Amino acid sequence: MQVSTAGNWYETTSVGDGVTLVRERHVAPWLRCNIWHVRGRDRDLVIDTGMGLRPLSEAISGLAEARPAIGVATHMHFDHSGGLHQFEDRAGHPLEAAIIAAPNAHNTVADIGYVRAETFSALPYEGFDHTQFAVRSAPLTRLVDEGDVFDLGDRVFRILHLPGHSPGSIALYERETGLLFSGDVIYDDDLLDNLYHSDPAQLEESLRRLKELPVSAIHAGHFVSFGQEKMIEIIDEYLAGGRRITDTDSFVSAAGCKNAPKR
Ligand SMILES: [Zn+2]
Repeated sequence: MQVSTAGNWYETTSVGDGVTLVRERHVAPWLRCNIWHVRGRDRDLVIDTGMGLRPLSEAISGLAEARPAIGVATHMHFDHSGGLHQFEDRAGHPLEAAIIAAPNAHNTVADIGYVRAETFSALPYEGFDHTQFAVRSAPLTRLVDEGDVFDLGDRVFRILHLPGHSPGSIALYERETGLLFSGDVIYDDDLLDNLYHSDPAQLEESLRRLKELPVSAIHAGHFVSFGQEKMIEIIDEYLAGGRRITDTDSFVSAAGCKNAPKR
């Protein structure tokens, strides 16, 4: 099938609280990560950066004017960290610093079958070849760990280190609003705890911690946002042995149908 080159690569949705959701509209809904732009008084956060196939300045006003923005990777999987190289200020957890300094298909999990021809409904640029996709090196300039904060001038986000999906997975929590940006620690679908560096026992521990956190909204690494009640439901289902992706192919075919109406 002939696939054309995309005009607009990104779509943006304001979700309130100075937060904008940016999505790669031509990357399949079951794969594309949520890119969260948080506006602050003195500087902005861009929490996760997508696959990096087009400049994020096309979607995020301010980036083009060199407004200070910290690019944050909740973890170094290719769908979250691909655009990190576009930022001068690049934050992530020390346990994943080596991956983003020297990324490859294996350590960014680009080799587990998610990057396929049918992943893309249009091409990011002429001549794009999905078999050549690779995350670019983007060494971290800011190592963040449990208890560290991002101070945007008028709002503060605290880092939670929540390993399990990956060793250096982090979430960002704003106590004042109860907003939680969770990366892939939790989202409203089956959770992935069987990657090469995943640890299901650690993920259980991280989810038990989250269960105690007062939150108003979880802006997750994928799919729709949700509230505390749903968060607890997802956690309880996981802790009871459910909500786990065991096989990529069946996840892709199931998610392709299951998530379509939600978008
Ligand atoms: Zn991930």
